[in-house]
Amino acid sequence: MFGNVFEVFSKDLGIDLGTVNTLVYTQGRGIVINSPSVVALNKKTGRILAIGEEARQMLGKTPTHIVASKPLTQGVISEFEITEQMLRSFMNQLSADKINVMPRPRVVIGVPSGVTEVEKRAVEEAARNAGARKVHLIEEPIAAALGARLGVQDPVGHMIVDIGGGTTEIAVISLGGIVLRESLQAAGTKMNEDIINYAREELQLLLGERTAEMVKIVAGSALPLNEPIQTTMRGRDVVNGLPKEVVVTDEHIRRAIAPSVRTIVDAVRSTVEQTPPELIADIMENGIVLAGGGSLLRGLPELLEYETKIAVKITDDPLTAVVRGCGIAIEHLDEMQDILVDIDNESK
Ligand code: ADP
Ligand code: MG
Repeated sequence: MFGNVFEVFSKDLGIDLGTVNTLVYTQGRGIVINSPSVVALNKKTGRILAIGEEARQMLGKTPTHIVASKPLTQGVISEFEITEQMLRSFMNQLSADKINVMPRPRVVIGVPSGVTEVEKRAVEEAARNAGARKVHLIEEPIAAALGARLGVQDPVGHMIVDIGGGTTEIAVISLGGIVLRESLQAAGTKMNEDIINYAREELQLLLGERTAEMVKIVAGSALPLNEPIQTTMRGRDVVNGLPKEVVVTDEHIRRAIAPSVRTIVDAVRSTVEQTPPELIADIMENGIVLAGGGSLLRGLPELLEYETKIAVKITDDPLTAVVRGCGIAIEHLDEMQDILVDIDNESK
């Protein structure tokens, strides 16, 4: 049918350019790319060797002439050209897979709320250089709320807590805008660092980042568990430099990440305390909504609920909420103009 043919030619994109994971949504197909934000480069030639999962596997294992780089830091671009190359490679992958036949799609990209003009323009330019025809930006908490199917444009208060890799973003949303927000560095990557530091100081064990991440996912928790979990951490002995294996329990990991968990809980509480009364009444009725990979930490919703006295729920598939929200925005661009971010001095 001709209708379908035209559909194939009009694939615009929603992109979540995350510190840890980049996801791409295309109209009609849903999420077509879900990949670590990692690029492996040959330093001598400047050539890209691998992108995404393949590059992530190289982290901490590269010889001196290869560098596995994460081009985003705390939600914003820290290495412009590498980000651009990463985006271009994802977009090329879509045309190679015949998913996106349109050569220059329009895109909606999420940016952390509170980014600077320079940071906004960097995202816009990277996407444009990577092949986008028109770039719209959306604040990530709004995208997450859209992805969670909250009535973002209603005169109703919603609280979204997006615990990602680089940052935790706390936001109160009403009428398509952000009323209050807080951004913290206490998030997934910080918890991995907590585990690395704990292992070094308390267990005399040097750990790699990927091991720390694995241990966090296998045994991490915000509250004591009914069924204890045990796992082994493999690394190197601080003292003699030899390989070493230590059996740890959820309690060790909980102690290691406790400061970051505490920081998140305190910031959510303080945001609740600053929320205007009418909005807090809405939030008490609708609950606090969690998104981002960090929201999967065991016991975190329960702890937040206990500390705020407000119901807390994790949105379905929290790792994809932002990109699904970007997808909704690109599919309904006309109705979404008000909630998209303005880019100053935009001459195009
Ligand atoms: P970003 O938007 O910064 O790219 P994501 O929302 O994709 O981040 O979440 C990635 C973070 O979520 C990582 O730090 C990862 O360790 C963490 N994460 C993923 N799954 C879990 C889990 N089951 N428990 C705890 N943390 C998790
Ligand atoms: Mg994110």
